[in-house]
Amino acid sequence: MKVPFLDLHNINKRYDKEFDLFFKQFNKRSWYILGEEVSSFEKEFAAYCGAKYCVGVASGLDALFLILTAYKHLGVLKNGDQVIVSANTYVATIIAIKNAGLEPVLVDADENTFNIDISKINITNQTKAILVTHLYGQLADMDSLDKLCKNNGLKLIADAAQAHGSITYKSKRSGNLCDAAGFSFYPSKNLGALGDGGAITTSDKELYECVFKLRNYGTSSKFINELSGYNSRLDEIQAGFLRIKLKSLDQDNDKRREIANTYLSKINNSHIILPFWDRSKNHVFHLFVIRVKDREHFQNFMTQNQVQTSIHYPIPPYDQKAFSGSLGSFYPVTDRISKEVVSLPISPVMTNDQIQFVIDIVNSYSI
Ligand SMILES: *Cc1c(COP(=O)(O)O)cnc(C)c1O
Repeated sequence: MKVPFLDLHNINKRYDKEFDLFFKQFNKRSWYILGEEVSSFEKEFAAYCGAKYCVGVASGLDALFLILTAYKHLGVLKNGDQVIVSANTYVATIIAIKNAGLEPVLVDADENTFNIDISKINITNQTKAILVTHLYGQLADMDSLDKLCKNNGLKLIADAAQAHGSITYKSKRSGNLCDAAGFSFYPSKNLGALGDGGAITTSDKELYECVFKLRNYGTSSKFINELSGYNSRLDEIQAGFLRIKLKSLDQDNDKRREIANTYLSKINNSHIILPFWDRSKNHVFHLFVIRVKDREHFQNFMTQNQVQTSIHYPIPPYDQKAFSGSLGSFYPVTDRISKEVVSLPISPVMTNDQIQFVIDIVNSYSI
């Protein structure tokens, strides 16, 4: 048996008929940019997230960048303001802050959840916002962060690129637990397009109106430019595909949790540390990430046994050449995590045989 890390072909094959039907209508309509598919998707995704508004944009990076840039237009943020962010995140979170002319201030990760360690956050006069990543689909501690931000007059923004559909015990979804959230529809995400895409959700009308303009050159209506904006629109065709896939997102996330449960109860190997799952929060298991001391040895063993694994992420953002040491370097937990993490296959189209096969191979690993 062979288990791919992520079988995108089989994931999207499930929608073959609906995609075909949609494409015929789409091609007949011949309306390619900002039409009824985008506006319908925006309404549906806002409702799904429990937010008042949604704006479709070109990517997850753009979603975060446009939220921060809109706050600058609204006078909430200004050049050089500091934004607190987890050291243990994908580089895009940090690039969004840098590209918006703001200064990322990194905070180490919590050893259990891999999310930002709130006890290590140090707020100064220059701190104006916290941009928090719900890493691997597990919500950060939003209650504590919300309190911290309200007490200090900070904006709380979520990088929800890995967390479509995460719900807390208070049954609020990730789009609605903060001032604004940025989502990515990169093909491998829990809700993935057939190309690039992203979205912003918020319940703040002013912010909504500002990003709505910024994503389309700053126009409020055709040929009326209120701001000097960007071209960052969600494609009509992608919005059409996403509307079809959104209907089964909850079901897909259930399946991911079911696989995670099976892994957690059946993987039993003293060389493997299983991920922590705070069950009071809904985890959508974008990734199932274990820790292994001799990672290279383990990955080779998995490859020899036909199970494809991956690493998220091998090099922390602060060690990337792009930032040339400007992000600090003392993040011991993130350092440790980045050397030991391995992502196992998890997806809504895995068969029971494949799941059992992964468990058997992992359990047979020895040094
Ligand atoms: C995928 C991802 C992004 C970037 O999304 P794109 O659509 O590729 O721009 C940002 N942050 C995190 C945590 C991600 O996983």
